[in-house]
Amino acid sequence: MTKYIFVTGGVVSGIGKGIASASLGRLLRNRGYTVAPVKLDPYINVDAGTMNPFQHGEVFVTDDGTESDLDLGHYERFLDVSCSSGSSVTTGKVYRSVIEAERRGDYLGATVQVIPHVTNEIKRLIIDAGVQQEADVVLAEIGGTVGDIESLPFMEAIRQLRKDLGKENTLFVHVTLIPTVGPWHEIKTKPTQHSVIKLREIGISPDMLVCRTEVPLPDDVREKLSMFCDVPEQAIVESMNAETIYEVPLVYEKSGIGEFVVERLELEARPSNLGEWELLVERLKRPQYACTVAVVGKYTSNGDAYKSIAEALVHAGIPNDCKVNIKWIESSEFEEAADPVSLLEGADGVVVAPGFGGRGIEGKIRALRHVRESGIPFFGICLGLQMAVIEYARNVCGLEGADSEEFSSESPYPVIHIMPEQLGIDAKGGTMRLGSYPCNITAGSLAAELYGSTRIDERHRHRYEVNNDFRELLIENGLVVSGVSPDYRLVEMVELPSHPFFVATQAHPEFKSRPNRPHPLFQGLVKAALKRKAKLLA
Ligand code: GLN
Repeated sequence: MTKYIFVTGGVVSGIGKGIASASLGRLLRNRGYTVAPVKLDPYINVDAGTMNPFQHGEVFVTDDGTESDLDLGHYERFLDVSCSSGSSVTTGKVYRSVIEAERRGDYLGATVQVIPHVTNEIKRLIIDAGVQQEADVVLAEIGGTVGDIESLPFMEAIRQLRKDLGKENTLFVHVTLIPTVGPWHEIKTKPTQHSVIKLREIGISPDMLVCRTEVPLPDDVREKLSMFCDVPEQAIVESMNAETIYEVPLVYEKSGIGEFVVERLELEARPSNLGEWELLVERLKRPQYACTVAVVGKYTSNGDAYKSIAEALVHAGIPNDCKVNIKWIESSEFEEAADPVSLLEGADGVVVAPGFGGRGIEGKIRALRHVRESGIPFFGICLGLQMAVIEYARNVCGLEGADSEEFSSESPYPVIHIMPEQLGIDAKGGTMRLGSYPCNITAGSLAAELYGSTRIDERHRHRYEVNNDFRELLIENGLVVSGVSPDYRLVEMVELPSHPFFVATQAHPEFKSRPNRPHPLFQGLVKAALKRKAKLLA
């Protein structure tokens, strides 16, 4: 019998519900249980692909090309699983299939309503996620905060699932904030009490509370929470900010909550294998070295917009015994600065990040010229590869005005152009080259050395590609095409052997990096950055 954990949020959003859920999942993974994560997002967008990263943070991409909320990234990193379309359920997706069913006449003349038609579809998708992934436990997190109008059908669906599946097979976890107020930093449980009352109005009583707090919770506070919220004290998790997010599962395990969940769901008690995780947290907390990597991008003012890149850099520090500090640089700053080079001061390595639209592009190209000419380790991701190719075409191949068709339709040298299969597609949702594609790597290249393989798979999300009319010219001028699609049609990776470390990929390798399996390209960048730093200091 599959077990179901439902995570809801209370008091305010943005308190790390995703990390809390992923950490709970990790406790079960450590016991050898398979966990299928599902994110239930109450917004009406069918997927996150059309959402602005400034507002919503990164669009995460799975192997099967689903464009999802960034929480799926936390799940993949904490649980070391690959999510798929079934792991992401939005109101838009639910309504789309209900309306399609109605148009087909599947409801046989019934009046189609939120209850039962919409709620049944939500229940079906939750159950399906477990079946598809043959999971012991489905971990379903509802986005937003209890009391939101949008999330009501999801709340009603999980309430019904408790009735359908039984108490021993379902667990309601509520993640709340315990603030402190006033000059004496008094701990306040009232917002949590109200949040639980709000949940009860919907018919849900939490079995467990995860309390985000800045101070340890004294016994009297735990007693009070237990009494008012009707939750055993043992099931109240004090969740303070940890030194690194990857420490959160260890903190939870220490509190005994892993055992509580196993007992409560009547799962077989198994030893918890923390070894690998403890080791990586230990190494993360006490690195011997440090370096700074500048990430040049368009959405740097929202810390979540490049979440997976930031995490991949953290992971890459682990095998290098190095703390990686990130210096975020807004690409348009390079356009405005009188001396753009000074912006990169203190950076031991540079990532040019993915992005869409023309703002800040000339700035990125300016930064790239300096990076290429001065030997600063460089790693270009998706748009970063396209920028590297444009810079090379303009400043090395002499193609003045070389550009991407995304930014200029009048360039005499469109070295980056729209993929032929994208021509004529006007809709924006899900029309890109999305998901995992294979790539052949040239033997003997830096990419082959880093990957330790000549055949790899990476995830993609782009409309434009290197224009093959210019491929030979770029190669003649020294740019090495080290990765191509198996049919040789698409340029997937480029590098510069004359440079200490200059690699760019059309893919998004950041999505596949895990703390226990750091991505080789990010590892290579950090290693090169450390080398450069040591050389400059010598
Ligand atoms: N805007 C570029 C394209 O569509 C790059 C996309 C990206 O960086 N993900 O091809």
